[in-house]
Amino acid sequence: MKQSKRRMQTLLIGCVVFVAVVVGLGWHQQHVAVQRVEQVLSRAKHAYHGRVVTEKTATGQVVYLLPHKGTALTRALRHRAQAALPKQGQHRVVLVQVSTGASVVSGVQQQRLTVNRYWVKARHDHQQTVTAQSLRPVRAATGQAATVADIVSDDYGRRAINYAAKQALVAKHRQTPASLAQVLDLRLLNSMTATNFRLSSRQLTVTDATGKAEVSVPLARIQMYLKGQTSPVASGKVIALTFDDGPNSATTPQILKTLAAAKVQATFFMVGTGLTKYPDTARAVAHAGHEIGIHTYDHPYLPKLTPAAAKDEIYGKMAATYYQVFGQLPTLLRPPFGALSLPVAQAEDLPAIQWSIDSQDWRSRNAAAICQRVQATAEPGGIVLMHDIQPATVQALPSVIQLLKAQGYQFVTVSQLLGGRLLPGHQYFGRGDERLVTAAG
Ligand code: ZN
Repeated sequence: MKQSKRRMQTLLIGCVVFVAVVVGLGWHQQHVAVQRVEQVLSRAKHAYHGRVVTEKTATGQVVYLLPHKGTALTRALRHRAQAALPKQGQHRVVLVQVSTGASVVSGVQQQRLTVNRYWVKARHDHQQTVTAQSLRPVRAATGQAATVADIVSDDYGRRAINYAAKQALVAKHRQTPASLAQVLDLRLLNSMTATNFRLSSRQLTVTDATGKAEVSVPLARIQMYLKGQTSPVASGKVIALTFDDGPNSATTPQILKTLAAAKVQATFFMVGTGLTKYPDTARAVAHAGHEIGIHTYDHPYLPKLTPAAAKDEIYGKMAATYYQVFGQLPTLLRPPFGALSLPVAQAEDLPAIQWSIDSQDWRSRNAAAICQRVQATAEPGGIVLMHDIQPATVQALPSVIQLLKAQGYQFVTVSQLLGGRLLPGHQYFGRGDERLVTAAG
């Protein structure tokens, strides 16, 4: 009897100890979970040099980490934070962090928003990232929104980037002629005061004025237009052969054959009428690795046209034809007869590629005369003008290449010769000879 009473007592004590241990452990676990959350928050706050704002809400706590002392706590941020608070559990906390990434352009910093939520449930701490996204870039000194003027040195650079964004947009999805025209009319980076862009170490992202279209351009494509950047031009005894007025199914393939045999890369400026007639020849030129620019649709004397008509010759009909054949927008323009005017140059966004060595093949129509003329006027960094529709040029080309090679020349394409930083409103006559298009022509 006495023995069983003692056993009961022991059992009871055992039970009490067990319950106490279980409850204690539970409390301990809960405590550790809360501590862990607090540790994460305190570490984040301590590592921070900006402005820390803590707000208590009915259901939890919001901690804002803002990059500059003067950064305003916007309504949009507050709204995001409230929405991100965990609905269940205890010790509900949201950490809203606006951080600045590495600056791509000196003085401009890209801001990033990260929203993390923390809560303790079933004695465990939980963590989840709700948002991690790029915000608009800001001026490092003031924290104010950066404008296009903060990232490019002049309006020509803005136009070049604006056009590159359109190129990226149409390269992504196949366009119809109608939608292509719409893209070319899009208002993307429309002024030096525009702020509708984001800038990371990999890409520039632009949203259009309506906020509906968004396009990302790889930084490698536009870096040369950003402030403080340069782009290397070809060095040494180089020369660029260019061929205008094609493609032509009879003569262009012969030119290609000669270039392939001599392992020479050249640049072709094609007209829209030729492209429409001989798209396969045009694609063979591209396939062989040559550079292709445009020479307008119908080869008019551009200064005689109204800016609208000139724009249609370059941007409208020609861009549509080029896009149809190559699936992308052109990047180089050779104006017919080398003739431009200020209103025309303002109406389109392509750099004009002129020449410094005129073979006069269209005039002499004589292989020996072409060779003699190129040899006599060749110069390092020069651009040679020829026409791939001239039978005399087909005949002269092997000797022209041989003569130039004998003089120690290496052959490059136009953009290799001039470097990547080619600007609208400018004309390029050769390496180191860049001129603005002015009212005088
Ligand atoms: Zn021409």
